Amino acid sequence: MAEGKVWVRKNREKPLRQGHPWLFSGAIARAEAAQDGELVAVYDSRDRFLARGYWNSKSQIPVRILSWRDDAIDSAWWRAMLKQAIARRVLPAGDTACRLVNAENDYLPGLIVDRYGDWLVLQALTRAIDARKEQIAAALLALTGIPNIYERSDVEVRQREGLGESAGVLRGDEPPATIEIKQAGMRYLVDIRHGHKTGFYLDQRDNRRLLRELAAGCGTGARLLNLFSYTGGFAIAAGCQHAVNVDSAYSALQLAEANTALNKIPTASAEFIQADVFDYLRHCVGVGERFDMVVLDPPKFAAHRRQIQRAARGYKDLNLNAFRLVKAGGWLMTFSCSGAISRDLFQKIVFGALVDARRRAQVIRQLGAASDHPVALTFPEGEYLKGLLLRVD
Ligand code: SAH
Repeated sequence: MAEGKVWVRKNREKPLRQGHPWLFSGAIARAEAAQDGELVAVYDSRDRFLARGYWNSKSQIPVRILSWRDDAIDSAWWRAMLKQAIARRVLPAGDTACRLVNAENDYLPGLIVDRYGDWLVLQALTRAIDARKEQIAAALLALTGIPNIYERSDVEVRQREGLGESAGVLRGDEPPATIEIKQAGMRYLVDIRHGHKTGFYLDQRDNRRLLRELAAGCGTGARLLNLFSYTGGFAIAAGCQHAVNVDSAYSALQLAEANTALNKIPTASAEFIQADVFDYLRHCVGVGERFDMVVLDPPKFAAHRRQIQRAARGYKDLNLNAFRLVKAGGWLMTFSCSGAISRDLFQKIVFGALVDARRRAQVIRQLGAASDHPVALTFPEGEYLKGLLLRVD
């Protein structure tokens, strides 16, 4: 198909020139022969070539840039880019799961690829990636030798591209109910067909390992409150016999229990509580519970700027009650995965909660996503996960 052409408005070229991969509709002067899902060459107001990307008229971001050089975006190009992304990953020894392609942050807008043992899970977030998923699957198979590729493009953001949801086998076999993965010596069962995201929160790998170190320092009787536990990732890592996992999703808690047994952590004193975390925290505060470690890893509260205020109130409430439950000298690991909430704002919210809880705390570490989730410096939107490791007095 013929390549379209797009001209950027004068004075709106700078972010693109500096390497930002998004061209918003307001920055576009005009487009010629641009077809949804197909390539376009991007020019400045003086008709000079700037970049090449793909087009979708239905999106607020009609162009996403693939290359700032005037080279052909053919199957060899896709293969080379995928190869580079995969080569950037340094998988810790013994690990069998990681993110292989992190979309814009690996200069492949709209494409997520995660590995779970002998399965790859692909997520196509844009029309152009959706149109090329067969080609991408073929390249992934050739590059990794991993025979099974499953698609999990059942995400809401595709609506903004004028796309419906899509999930199923792209290559190889239908996946089993759960796939066992290893991360930092821990074993987890992952349901790649029904689990959240592509099945597992791979981004928390390094933070789980850090919690494991802290737990070792807390001694054998340590008590952990794992809020928004999903399949128990943090509790498995901590290895505490007294871990309380709280989540609203029953199927996640079932896997959390299975994961606890799989890792030979005595389940007698592990708890798997299906509850709303906001309510459960109030209950714990009411009965005067105390924990050595509290992990607070809520889902995304703010998908847009206009939800920031509401999200901030949610984070404040959770952190306030979490502070009240930490023993003196204990730990709080608290997160926000809302892209719209900056690191700075998050820290201010947590500070507000601390003041209201009348406690003192020290920031021991700023936390973020694991190293297989790089953030391109040219793409600040890529930094969605931020967290604080706090020692609470
Ligand atoms: N910490 C987890 C990931 C958490 S993802 C890990 O390490 O894997 C967020 C989780 O919050 C999801 O499992 C979702 O089911 C749960 N959730 C969302 N809203 C909730 C609520 N109000 N109360 C309890 N759980 C909730």
